[in-house]
Amino acid sequence: MNELKVFNPATGDLLATLSMDSKEMIETKLKAGHDAFRTWRNTSVYERAALIDRWADLIIEQKDVVAKIMTEENGKPLRESLGEVLNAVSYLTWYAEEAKRIYGRTIPANTNNKRIMVTRQGIGLVAAITPWNFPAAMMTRKAGPALAAGCTFIVKPAEDTPLTMIKLVELAHEAGIPKDVIQCVVGVGSEVGPVFTSSNYVRKITFTGSTPVGKRLISEGANTVKHMSMELGGHAPFIICEDADIDFVITQAIASKFRNAGQTCICANRFIVHKNVLAEFTEKFTAAAKALKLGNGMDPTTDVGPLINKKGFDKVVEQIEDAKAKGASVLVGGTSFEDKEKKTYFVSPTVLGDVTLDMQIMSEETFGPVAPIIAYDDLDTALEIANGTPFGLAAYYFTNDYKRGIYLQDHLNFGIIGWNDGLPTTAQAPFGGFKESGLGREGGIEGIEPYLETKYLSIGNL
Ligand code: NAP
Repeated sequence: MNELKVFNPATGDLLATLSMDSKEMIETKLKAGHDAFRTWRNTSVYERAALIDRWADLIIEQKDVVAKIMTEENGKPLRESLGEVLNAVSYLTWYAEEAKRIYGRTIPANTNNKRIMVTRQGIGLVAAITPWNFPAAMMTRKAGPALAAGCTFIVKPAEDTPLTMIKLVELAHEAGIPKDVIQCVVGVGSEVGPVFTSSNYVRKITFTGSTPVGKRLISEGANTVKHMSMELGGHAPFIICEDADIDFVITQAIASKFRNAGQTCICANRFIVHKNVLAEFTEKFTAAAKALKLGNGMDPTTDVGPLINKKGFDKVVEQIEDAKAKGASVLVGGTSFEDKEKKTYFVSPTVLGDVTLDMQIMSEETFGPVAPIIAYDDLDTALEIANGTPFGLAAYYFTNDYKRGIYLQDHLNFGIIGWNDGLPTTAQAPFGGFKESGLGREGGIEGIEPYLETKYLSIGNL
């Protein structure tokens, strides 16, 4: 049987050796999930909500345990892991409530001897594939609405971080959610993906991860006409206008750029700064980045942890080197630490000045603690830079001028916008991207829609 070894990215220590599910085992689980749908969909919404709430309570009871598992396998600082656990729970409690508002409707018919009714029901077995950067929240914002809608659920976590997910699924079972209603698959994405997409038992694929893998899943799922939800990559612009309160901007810029070591789909990736405030922003931002401490996330003084793996590390280093070769100045950081024996990878918080649009870092998602700064003169140029990528996930801007603020909101082609807000994610709001950043939304009333089918009933001969 194939094994999956899970390592601590900060120390290189082996955390666990797991058995991977074979193709046959995954198929057995898919059939069990499909069969369980028949009974789960017929439970009352209040019963499902109570079980989801109980699951949320158990996670809260064990929040320190879950956060420690997360920091050990993902590397993020322990306080960030704890924050993610609470955020993950908020999706469960929100959708336990929202389930009670899955309404149908009646429609006036053309003639008096007919009635038209529209009802909503869970779509069936949902197969989820999630990334390593938010091992808990990326699962619960899918599982919460799916289970609430009456769907059954099977999830494949990223191979770098399966332990948080395994713990969460254990707690779901302990809460009383039947074993076949929520299941976990341990395996490698490129092998598990095709089993999910080709299965007739799976009605929906919900994926969070990179755009290339998302495109592949969409095309593989076409054969069985799967419903698809895609939360994909981003390349967020962070526009700072000439009237912005720079001290406030710095707090938001540091949080948005450096949390999770910059490995966040909505993290600020391109700082687009008005020339009149460029000097002040650059000086203060560089000083704040310099004060961040790089290290093991288990150390309470650590602000920025390791990068998840060599692939992520190589990409970040390549972007820094490319920028330097094309004339960027390294204002702080720029140092990378690769321990080939332990297989640990760190990059110090880095700020780049004199950035130009031809640098890779301005067109490719970074996923690391590197902040490129580019200056602009007029707002339309800032907009052109901001909108000039195939991505459209999150954008940020900072201004206290309401006309400028509304103009930017009107013209930015992004699904999530933070106006004077560097941390917009919350369970009650729709999260998702335009263009190649995705399909559909998670969170808010929009987040339960993708798990529901619409059934129209025409009653005649009355
Ligand atoms: P990734 O390489 O696409 O991996 C994500 C998941 O897909 C993992 O579970 C992975 O499994 C699996 N996978 C890989 N190849 C696959 C294939 N051929 N078929 C099916 N599944 C496959 O992305 P990542 O590097 O882990 O995560 C970073 C990306 O996620 C970034 O682009 C980021 O922007 C995006 N993201 C988006 C959001 C959002 O809400 N829009 C949120 C978080 C992250 P293995 O680990 O086993 O390879």
